[in-house]
Amino acid sequence: MTVLETERLTKQFGGLTAVDEVDLAIEQGEGVSLIGPNGAGKSTFINLVTRRLDPSYGEILFKGDSIVGMEPHQVVQLGMSKSFQTASIFPELTVEENAVIAALAAEHGSFRFNFFRHENAYPEVTRVADEVLKSVGLYDERESQADSLDYGNKRRLEIGIALAAEPDMLLMDEPTAGMSPEETKSTVELIKEVKRELDLTFLLVEHDMEIVFDISDRIVVLNRGAVIAEGTPEEVQNDPAVQEAYLGG
Ligand code: ADP
Ligand code: MG
Repeated sequence: MTVLETERLTKQFGGLTAVDEVDLAIEQGEGVSLIGPNGAGKSTFINLVTRRLDPSYGEILFKGDSIVGMEPHQVVQLGMSKSFQTASIFPELTVEENAVIAALAAEHGSFRFNFFRHENAYPEVTRVADEVLKSVGLYDERESQADSLDYGNKRRLEIGIALAAEPDMLLMDEPTAGMSPEETKSTVELIKEVKRELDLTFLLVEHDMEIVFDISDRIVVLNRGAVIAEGTPEEVQNDPAVQEAYLGG
């Protein structure tokens, strides 16, 4: 099954074409990395797909249906989850409460309006939340206040919050930015483990090529908003157009 498909997806900011007629398809269970030089349009692409930005033109299909015109929370409900570069943690709540709220939000849209009407859902979402906390290695910390976690565990909780929505697809924009080498390593291992365990489909933006080559089934290379290469890590590594984009600009 094709989880995500874009057709001629384009975003112009005034005279600048940040994303230029991108056709991309991601299959169920596939781990795809989006790479490219600074300003290539990677974050803009992610923001279009997660509906934080409206395209200038082009189509976005999620599990076969158009999501252009939908609100970000609606695509979360459909099964698309984004981790990192978002202030998704409620610092004053416990680790478990954070995961429960994420699971509830995905199930019922805006939990703010529905929370008290859906108390019957609570045991089920707690079960989902606890499973997720186990898979990201935070189960023993479930009673801790989120704010008290160290940096690495906060990033784990961010992934957990994204996974608690039981997504069909996870999007990540530079998940290891600002992490120490050890935190980076453990986050990469975590993503690999979660992918194996949950057959997770993901789209990752990452500038560290070592991570990209380690973690991806397929790599898509953007330059000036357009796809200039696509393939397995080996294919992309040896592509002259890629080397030119990175080295020759
Ligand atoms: P990347 O994530 O690959 O570094 P971005 O998607 O952030 O690139 O940016 C792509 C291009 O679009 C850049 O030239 C950037 O300056 C421009 N851009 C991004 N967001 C905006 C915006 N909100 N308004 C105007 N220009 C933008
Ligand atoms: Mg970016």
